[in-house]
Amino acid sequence: MVYSARTLALILAASIALITSLFLSLLEGVQATALIVAGIISFSSSYLLVFVILEFLIFREINKVYKMLDKLRKKELSGLTKAKSGALNPLQKINEEIYSFATLKQKEIDELRKLEAFRKEFIADVSHELKTPIFAAQGFVHTLLDGAVNDKNVRTKFLKKAAKSLDGLDALVQDLLTLSQIETGDIKMHFETIDLVALCAEVMEQFEDRAEKKKITLQLASGHPKLWVHADWMRITQVVTNLVSNAINYTPEGGEVTIGFEASKKNVVTRITDTGEGIPAPHLGRIFERFYRVDKSRSREKGGTGLGLAIVKHILEGHGARAEVESTVGKGSVFSFKLPRVKADE
Ligand code: ADP
Repeated sequence: MVYSARTLALILAASIALITSLFLSLLEGVQATALIVAGIISFSSSYLLVFVILEFLIFREINKVYKMLDKLRKKELSGLTKAKSGALNPLQKINEEIYSFATLKQKEIDELRKLEAFRKEFIADVSHELKTPIFAAQGFVHTLLDGAVNDKNVRTKFLKKAAKSLDGLDALVQDLLTLSQIETGDIKMHFETIDLVALCAEVMEQFEDRAEKKKITLQLASGHPKLWVHADWMRITQVVTNLVSNAINYTPEGGEVTIGFEASKKNVVTRITDTGEGIPAPHLGRIFERFYRVDKSRSREKGGTGLGLAIVKHILEGHGARAEVESTVGKGSVFSFKLPRVKADE
């Protein structure tokens, strides 16, 4: 049952008046009128006293609540010290409740603000990335329509360039789709026992032509006939494909790209090593972010979407693993990831 300050004061004052009258009635020679007068006086004075004290306490607490709400409004929440819990005062408890509720809401608001900023940045990045190949293809097609189509040499050259831009656009849309499907959870990992050596050999085969054109030696330094791990074959194929593709892209002619393994009882570490240009240390922490490139124009020229490593990171996270990188400028880079090893019959 909840009493208002007035009712509480009334009850307390009546009790005090009753006790006073009872006490006075025990004394000899005290008349009934005197008892009534004493009762009325003690009732009125205690009522006033109790009421003023209660109002004062309530106002003080309400004032505290308002002050705190004011601080919250001014975003000083982080500077507030948490009130002691287990307080007997119900208003103080309300104060605490509001405090923890507001802290929770403030955290949610901060999180939503971050997401909103991230979304805006992402849309701006995607629009920019889409614009580049669209404008290029558009330019070539319009030049052809404006007359260049009559010159056979120019026609072929421009059509090839427009086709290259559209291929880039297609790759970008594919990568964006993959990334968004992984993030929204539309792509479920299909875990099974797979042979990493066979998987890497298959990926290497796909890159033989591209490597040959650049006179790059591809090597699979296994040392193990088979290495069984618990993973999703298709997704890990994509991880190795993206890493080998980058290694070939960023390695000059005559270089080497090697896939090697380090197997312990529990895990298998896969390493993709190249003798390429390397990555300067300040960029190492950021290359797994979407659209982050060390050299934007070079990446685009090589047909890079800027999403390859972001996809690698997400797929590996889906496996509870992490992509690691070590690099020395001018010497090359090593990208690696660790997967849990299993026995073939598991
Ligand atoms: P991109 O499509 O641009 O290659 P990625 O996400 O695959 O996008 O890679 C991000 C950036 O990381 C690249 O633009 C490049 O600057 C750098 N990078 C990735 N792999 C290598 C590598 N093996 N050697 C040197 N730089 C690399």
